[in-house]
Amino acid sequence: MRNNIVAGNWKMNNDSSETEVLLTQLKSFKKPEGVRIMVAPAFTQLAQSTALLKDDAVAVVAQNINAAASGAYTGEVSASMLKGVGVHTVILGHSERRSLFHETDAGLASKVKSTLDAGMEVIFCFGEELKERKSNTHFDVVAQQIRVALFELPVSAWKQIILAYEPVWAIGTGETASPSQAQEMHSYIRSLIASKYDQATADSVSILYGGSVKPNNAQEIFAGEDVDGGLIGGASLKAEDFMAIVNAF
Ligand code: PEP
Repeated sequence: MRNNIVAGNWKMNNDSSETEVLLTQLKSFKKPEGVRIMVAPAFTQLAQSTALLKDDAVAVVAQNINAAASGAYTGEVSASMLKGVGVHTVILGHSERRSLFHETDAGLASKVKSTLDAGMEVIFCFGEELKERKSNTHFDVVAQQIRVALFELPVSAWKQIILAYEPVWAIGTGETASPSQAQEMHSYIRSLIASKYDQATADSVSILYGGSVKPNNAQEIFAGEDVDGGLIGGASLKAEDFMAIVNAF
C-alpha cells in the first residue's frame, strides 16, 4: 500500500553550515511512525547530508539529474553519481525547472527513465498554471504532463514513482489549493493511472500535494483520501515548521 510522505525541497538554499544546523535540529525531533521524511538539499550539500543523517529516519533526495550516464555535459550530475553519495530519490519536473530551465515533459521522460534504470526513485512534479485553472483546462494539462513523461513506463516501474501535484499558482505564493481542489485533482490522477494501468497500481502510488503547505494548513490538506503527503518548499527551511507538517497526518 502507498506511503505517507513529507519531502522538503530546499531549492538553492542552505550552505554547508546552514545545512549542518538545520539537519542537526531535524535529527533531534522524534519521528512519527508511518511517514517517510525526505529533504532535498543542493547538490553540493548531498554528501554532507547523507553523512549527517546516516542513522536517522530522514532520507536525502536530489533536486535534479542529467539523463545521460556520463560524458561531456558541463555542470551536470548523473544518477549514478547521486547513488554514490547515498541518494536514492530524485525530484524531477519541478515547475521552476520547467519555467526557468525550459524542461519539457519529453525531456523529463528521459530523465525519469535514467533515474529508474539506475534503480532510483522519482518524485515527479507537475501542475497547471493559473491561467489554465481559470480556463478550466487544469485536468487536461495535468493529464498531458503525466502521459508524456510517465505513461511509456511498464507497470513494474510504478513502484519507483512518487507523484507531486503542484499547481504553479500555489508555489511560493502563500496561496494554496483548497483541500477539496487538492483532493479532486489527486482523485483524478489516480483514475487516470487506473485507466492506463490498473486499479492496484493506481492505489499503490503516493500522490503528494505541493504549494504553500504550512503547519497551519497541512492537516486539512493531508486529510484528503487521495492526498498522501506534501512536497514542501519554504516551510521546509525551518525545522519546527517542517516537523509540524510531518506530524500533521
Ligand atoms: C515547492 O517549491 O515545491 C513548493 C511547494 O514551495 P512552497 O511550499 O514554498 O510553496
